[in-house]
Amino acid sequence: MRQHLPVLLLSLSVPVIALLPLPDFWIAQLNYIGLYALVSLGLVLLTGVGGLTSFGQAAFVGIGAYTTAWLTLNLGLSPWITLFIGLGLTAVSALVVGLITLRMSGHYLPLATIAWGLSLYYLMGNLDALGKYDGLLGLKSLSVGDIDIGQGRLFFVLCWALLIAGAVALINLLDSRPGRAIRSLKGGTQMAEAMGISTFRYKVTIFLIAALFAAVAGWLLAHFQRTVNPSAFGLKMGIEYLFMAVVGGVGYVWGAIVGAGLVKLLDDYLQVALPALIGTSGSYEVIVFGVALVLVLKYLPDGLWSVVARKFPRPPRALNWLGAEDLPVRSKPARGEPVLVVDNIRKQFGGLTAVNDISFDIAAGQIVGLIGPNGAGKSTTFNLITGVLSKTSGRVTFCGQDVSQLPSREIARQGMSRTFQHVKMIADMTVLENVAMGAYTRGHRGVVSAMLRTNQVEEQRLMKEAQRQLERIGMGASLHEQAGNLAMGPQRLMEIARALCSDPALLLLDEPAAGLRHKEKQALAQVLRQLQREGMSILLVEHDMDLVMEVCDQLVVMEFGTLLTRGTPAEVQANPAVRAAYLGTEH
Ligand code: ADP
Ligand code: MG
Repeated sequence: MRQHLPVLLLSLSVPVIALLPLPDFWIAQLNYIGLYALVSLGLVLLTGVGGLTSFGQAAFVGIGAYTTAWLTLNLGLSPWITLFIGLGLTAVSALVVGLITLRMSGHYLPLATIAWGLSLYYLMGNLDALGKYDGLLGLKSLSVGDIDIGQGRLFFVLCWALLIAGAVALINLLDSRPGRAIRSLKGGTQMAEAMGISTFRYKVTIFLIAALFAAVAGWLLAHFQRTVNPSAFGLKMGIEYLFMAVVGGVGYVWGAIVGAGLVKLLDDYLQVALPALIGTSGSYEVIVFGVALVLVLKYLPDGLWSVVARKFPRPPRALNWLGAEDLPVRSKPARGEPVLVVDNIRKQFGGLTAVNDISFDIAAGQIVGLIGPNGAGKSTTFNLITGVLSKTSGRVTFCGQDVSQLPSREIARQGMSRTFQHVKMIADMTVLENVAMGAYTRGHRGVVSAMLRTNQVEEQRLMKEAQRQLERIGMGASLHEQAGNLAMGPQRLMEIARALCSDPALLLLDEPAAGLRHKEKQALAQVLRQLQREGMSILLVEHDMDLVMEVCDQLVVMEFGTLLTRGTPAEVQANPAVRAAYLGTEH
């Protein structure tokens, strides 16, 4: 119930406000705030959650606005039809722009969106058909039958109803299988790809969703103002939309409304107050906004809504999954059959041969340890097998399939699951949600289904699986804790549970004991022993010799990129070459 409280309050207050005898001026203000919030809502998803900064949202507002303006004026189409044409055009442009720019990293993306915003602004301003910088005039107000709903109170209800619907759709989305994938984008792509998630596809998706939100706002704006001209869709507005999202709380859906309201009201106030104060006219409000932005970023980097969000943390989800069906399991090689065959893999970094024609294999049910002194090439071997790095030569066969050329995401989908030497998780998600990400490839429901909440049966199954894997490794008591609050030991166990959630045929653990205290190491060893009893196939890269000797069936020893020897722990320990090269130096 508490989870739905903001939605409920807002939905109730809209009709109440519409019925109150407020001056028309204030209703008009609220209409603008609703429109701006719709755009900044898209930015919350794109920038706040996804970490992709766009200054170009105003351009998408422009596409929505100009499409309906031109088509209704010139072809006499109904606005209810042009809305969808505008959305279609926006989708096409967002896909084109997105496919080109979203592969760029760092500051190239924001720069590209600035270029995109500018070019569309000049295009709108220079086309005769679009009225150049004067724009298009004389649009019709929106109507249903004979009722004008394009102005005043009825427009307020329409606009805010769309806004609330958009907010609910986003909240639903973020709390779902695709939503967890989207929330992982900010922390880099490696972890998500290792869970079988196509990060590029989700970047394009949120770029598209944000653009569509903007286009709806543009359509509304055009018929509300009954005129369109380029100035409303230029770079200045693009910056202002981003500013609304940042001030309100990029990352919080409700922050979009707070930010839009604050910026709109402050903008109006300052435009009057500042020239009066200073004595000359000018756009001084821009300076105040600049200073305010710096202050907000310094003292409230998560925006104003973060204050509210901290006071009222979200209660654990009300999903009950106890009766849910189990997820289907994949067929795995029978005990003793080969799971992984590494055949002469090689990696050269320039002149350095980090991995020099290494071969070994893992049979189902075996735990194989990959050991060797620092710089021996263990991590590189690990990355060659999992597809994070490309091989200079050699072949990797996994469950009978050649996976040598596949990217890490595809290899993960085939049932190879891994943990990371440096824990990679989403700190502000619960332990349960983090672990559920491991089951990503075992679900199918997409973005639309998540927004409409028709994904609940699948969500229950995913959560049930996540809980089961956490209980399997003894973390059943920490389901709803924030992952970021865990100590190092439980964090590493959580990663193992996440990897297990994908129902792997092979588990790869990269130094799981690194940085653990004695007690935590014991807990880890116990989990490994248990997995061994259950017949899990594991490749273990580890420095802790006691742990390796205890749990491994076979050891592969590397030195300077080459295979030194392999055998059972006893054989390896007895090997004089190993003693000299490795054990001798450490023990
Ligand atoms: P280990 O994990 O056994 O400590 P690594 O696989 O990390 O060893 O490194 C093996 C060798 O390859 C080292 O000499 C390291 O400096 C080198 N190396 C690893 N990654 C790269 C890279 N991306 N570029 C160049 N050299 C690298
Ligand atoms: Mg290493």
